[in-house]
Amino acid sequence: MPNPDAHKLDLSLVMVRGLIGRCPHCGVGHLFARYLKQVEVCPVCGEALGHIRADDGPAWLTIILVGHILAPILLNVVPDSTWPDWVSVLVWTGLAGLLSLMILPRAKGFFIGIIWRNDGPGT
Ligand SMILES: [Zn+2]
Repeated sequence: MPNPDAHKLDLSLVMVRGLIGRCPHCGVGHLFARYLKQVEVCPVCGEALGHIRADDGPAWLTIILVGHILAPILLNVVPDSTWPDWVSVLVWTGLAGLLSLMILPRAKGFFIGIIWRNDGPGT
């Protein structure tokens, strides 16, 4: 059931609340119960959030961001690197994995905020 108050909130405010893992409605309650598991209802304002599905959007955004962050670094650093290949593989794949783990929940919150604000599918 869409919240009629959702359209009263500024889209950029809702996106920022999602990025920092907060409820898009009140901005106080936590959006996630665990790493990527969103809460069913906001513990502060009671807004229903558990039914909103961001699907593949957060994963795509994460891939795009990690690629755009690491590609320029790799292209500038790797050709002049004196590291053994196995060290380069460990460092760069580890960094890509770490960045992905950091960005993914923020991307999911970002999408949930947008979907909630615009009465998207699942709301
Ligand atoms: Zn809330």
